[in-house]
Amino acid sequence: NKKLVMIPGPTPTIRSINDQMGRETVAFGDPEFVKDYKELIIDLKEMFKVDGECFVVAGTGTMAMEMAISNVTKRGDNVLIVSNGFFGDRFIDLCERKGLNVDVLSAPWGEVVSPETIESKLKEKNYAAMTVTHVDTSTGACAPIEEIGKIIKNYPDTIYIVDGVAATAGEREYVDDMGIDILFTASQKAFGVAPGLALLWAGQKALSRRKSLGTIPEFYIDFEKWIPIMNDPSKYFATPAVNMVWALKESVRVINEEGIEARYDRHIRVSKAIQSALESLGFKILAKEGNRGTTLSNVLYPEGINDAEFRKIMAEEGAMVAGGLAAYAGKLFRLGHMGNIDDHTVYSVIAVIERTLIKLGYKYEKGIGLKTLLENM
Ligand code: PMP
Repeated sequence: NKKLVMIPGPTPTIRSINDQMGRETVAFGDPEFVKDYKELIIDLKEMFKVDGECFVVAGTGTMAMEMAISNVTKRGDNVLIVSNGFFGDRFIDLCERKGLNVDVLSAPWGEVVSPETIESKLKEKNYAAMTVTHVDTSTGACAPIEEIGKIIKNYPDTIYIVDGVAATAGEREYVDDMGIDILFTASQKAFGVAPGLALLWAGQKALSRRKSLGTIPEFYIDFEKWIPIMNDPSKYFATPAVNMVWALKESVRVINEEGIEARYDRHIRVSKAIQSALESLGFKILAKEGNRGTTLSNVLYPEGINDAEFRKIMAEEGAMVAGGLAAYAGKLFRLGHMGNIDDHTVYSVIAVIERTLIKLGYKYEKGIGLKTLLENM
């Protein structure tokens, strides 16, 4: 059985993207590569609507988190972390190590901190930056980043950082229009490329904050080191991940072929269909209706299903899904449905889930998951 990668990242990689990763590597100064890299940066700025800079650098989402914080804060600054789960919380340790004064607003898992709560916190003191995780991968809940962006406009000293690792290229995001100052993601999620690249967009407010800081302690992730390269990739700072850049460029081509708006709509359609199919089978979705992400689902088991057994049989039947994090370990599985996933794959995954349930001896109406999926796709 071919194993579908249905964890919430890495996501399945399609043939044309794999072909780019498998190309013979060229010198990073090769004129053809330089041209490709430059076009990629221009396309990414256009796609996410930023009048500023876009950085595509070897690294992961966690590095992008650190890059975002390091370029807009200095030791002793106040930072507000809006956390809707495990990845929101990841910013706490990251910021504390940098000597930042951290305040945290947390939501119960499956819910999101409301814009009203954020606004009253912002009134309390001057925050140099605020972080919000668009879709927290540990819960599948989606934060109202646009509404939060409207509030943050009244706080000119606060840089609005959005973690789009489990969202960007799947959930609607327009950097400048939504009042976002920094957005970042990684290649292995909704872009459908293997892990290895961090992507970060910075608007004018974030860039001028960086300028005002002078020299920062960080070296590899300093905006100022990369800005000349992103604008003219024939220059050198640190070796670019040549094949990954090509693969990302192919991903952008694929996204444009589908149309980014159509892509966002597909994520909505597919996530709703999958979530109703799962509910018809007796599972429950952790994220509350109204704030469910479209890129992944955190799926609570019905009574009597053992997590380890379920995921083992799922893998044998042909689909890898991920386990729950922290308090939800053993209670749910995490299913990715973002990126370059075609409808065939969606049908296959629900079929794999049904085959697994049958093997586990679960009593239910056979075929109800697929029927519900058919009616909702
Ligand atoms: N933020 C979110 C929302 C994520 O889902 C992840 C990865 N699952 C990260 C940050 C960290 O990214 P990486 O694993 O690529 O370092």
